Amino acid sequence: MEEAAKLAAEKISQASKGLLQTEELYNYILETSVYPREPEPLKEIRIATASHPLALMATAPDGGQLMALLLNLINPKKTIEIGVFTGYSLLLTALAVPADGKIIAIDPNRAAYEIGLPVIKKAGVEHKIDYIESPALPVLDKLLEDKTNEGSFDFAYVDADKGNYWNYHERLMKLVRTGGLIIYDNTLWGGTVALPDDSLVPDDMKESRVHTIKLNKSLASDPRIQICQIPLADGVTVCRRLY
Ligand code: SAH
Ligand code: CA
Repeated sequence: MEEAAKLAAEKISQASKGLLQTEELYNYILETSVYPREPEPLKEIRIATASHPLALMATAPDGGQLMALLLNLINPKKTIEIGVFTGYSLLLTALAVPADGKIIAIDPNRAAYEIGLPVIKKAGVEHKIDYIESPALPVLDKLLEDKTNEGSFDFAYVDADKGNYWNYHERLMKLVRTGGLIIYDNTLWGGTVALPDDSLVPDDMKESRVHTIKLNKSLASDPRIQICQIPLADGVTVCRRLY
């Protein structure tokens, strides 16, 4: 095994600093630019999530900061979120959409959402959220049964089961309007996408590594979107629908 591959594999086990070289560098970014500007409700939901055994799944605050910036740039009124967990990314979206905005938030695990819900209520944005407790695919298909939903969404954030990302993409390309954004999270999958093979990849990451490699290739060759893969957090791919 090449030295570079070994190093990359070692990094997988230290996911808390995202894909950066050192923990110090990641903390530097958080302390300098992220935490001082993190809205109070987001801080609260982050702290409420910290004791959850799967807390690492939550959208990282630096990734959230990028998302908030993009949301403010496009000013979306209708959005979709696939993969809510305790609600960090959902709350930041709810803070960004106008008072009459709507977010369809889909996740089959409502128990995790209950952790963040009191903070969302306190922030006064719960009325913007239509939480659907379900796997996402049938919900998207149901939305597409109604033609008026086509092109009616301005923004979508996908942060759930990696094996379905391309299925989500095909449906979101119909639901999100031309000029709208779709953001995919975890598109570098701990850096494993660049390993020559999966012999050093932990077993529970192998399957999603394959899905992610396929997704990245497919997104890169999809002429319907403009893309940018950002090496922030665990890899964030921003797609803008062109037609
Ligand atoms: N965006 C969240 C993190 C999501 S973690 C945040 O900012 O904290 C991934 C979530 O995807 C989990 O809560 C899991 O329940 C959910 N998930 C798993 N399979 C799913 C599916 N088929 N459809 C929608 N959500 C799913
Ligand atoms: Ca994620």
